[in-house]
Amino acid sequence: MSDLAIAEREHAQQPERGDVGPPLWLLAELTYRCPLHCAFCYNPVDYTHHRDELSTAQWIGVLREARKLGAAQLGFSGGEPLMRDDLEELVAEAHKLGFYTNLITSGVGLTDARLDVLKANGLDHIQLSFQDSTQELNDFLSSTRTFDLKNRVARSIKAHGFPMVLNCVLHRYNLPHVDKIIDMALAMGAEYLELANTQYYGWAHANRAQLMPTAEQLREAEAVVERYRKEIGNRCKIFFVVPDYFETRPKRCMNGWGSVFLGVAPDGAALPCHSARSLPGLTFPNVKEMPLADIWYASDAFNRFRGFEWMKEPCRSCDEKEKDLGGCRCQAYLLTHDAANADPVCDKSEHHEHVVNVVRDAARRGAALAPDEQPVMFRNDANSRRFAGGSESGAHGGTRAATGTGTTTTATPPKEKTRS
Ligand code: SF4
Ligand code: SF4
Repeated sequence: MSDLAIAEREHAQQPERGDVGPPLWLLAELTYRCPLHCAFCYNPVDYTHHRDELSTAQWIGVLREARKLGAAQLGFSGGEPLMRDDLEELVAEAHKLGFYTNLITSGVGLTDARLDVLKANGLDHIQLSFQDSTQELNDFLSSTRTFDLKNRVARSIKAHGFPMVLNCVLHRYNLPHVDKIIDMALAMGAEYLELANTQYYGWAHANRAQLMPTAEQLREAEAVVERYRKEIGNRCKIFFVVPDYFETRPKRCMNGWGSVFLGVAPDGAALPCHSARSLPGLTFPNVKEMPLADIWYASDAFNRFRGFEWMKEPCRSCDEKEKDLGGCRCQAYLLTHDAANADPVCDKSEHHEHVVNVVRDAARRGAALAPDEQPVMFRNDANSRRFAGGSESGAHGGTRAATGTGTTTTATPPKEKTRS
């Protein structure tokens, strides 16, 4: 039996309180610092507001409490988790506690020396992100010169014997390159390829007009993925999830609010999903002030959207509510200003037209996004401070606060990459 299977069996044996089971996943966002500046970064747009980071001892406390609660899988994430020089120590502790551990990294800072120690300390898995199969677009989208480095890091990860997930966020600029991205993953020996179509939260929401693909681009990319799946069999498992905006029913977001996922932000805020910080009217408890068990089972934030009582119509009386739990609370807020509304991806929502219009706009522009159209805004401190200080805080409405600055914090995509 694999370590993961053992951990999951242990999880199943953890006690429940009422209807609430224990968390399965712990995502430790060790820091918001990152050397990259991805235009689709899922970190909060006002991350500069949350500079404090938990100490090593505090993180170790979080790992112990979470394991005791029943969490079995642990992702070390960020920002870039390698910016923390205690990462190796935290991995060792997590391994000792019996977690199945995954490092989610851009690759920057992942030297052979650090890989040696991470391997020795029991790290199980590495997820390495690329922005594209071409140097030009990879480096443009991250606003760094990292393509060659990532290639070197991928080779080192495999040389150290780690199972590797290659992750590439997809959008209108790189969807036409899906075949090349798959070829790249195969050449690198990745066991998994996560083709993660952009979900429009955080910085991706601010850059939504630029990143939103056309339905045709998606269909073509999906067909390519299907063809490869047939050709390569089990050599590399490819995940490809259609973005919400192109569906008529929402996803069962995080498998339910406060159901299996527990995120801890760099400053210790406990979150039921990565984007929850953008929701107004919720105070997220901090692991520095409250035991994790109380946060998970008893806090208002984690209980607010559990079950069905919070639902409004049309979800409340909908016969599909057990299937999708009303979709994503953050998306409901971003698009309807009320987190308790149905996710407007659902065509039963009175706000669904908004989603349809965004997709229609993308189709109208087609693949020929004019290079002088709204430039891409990168995730960096200057832009984040504008969000944090602006009257329009958070991801919602943030685009206006941070574009049109005429500074180097925005840029226009390479012209040839704007066409499919
Ligand atoms: S998405 Fe890009 S900028 Fe954001 S944390 Fe990951 S590597 Fe850094
Ligand atoms: S109305 Fe609500 S519960 Fe019903 S399908 Fe739509 S999002 Fe799901």
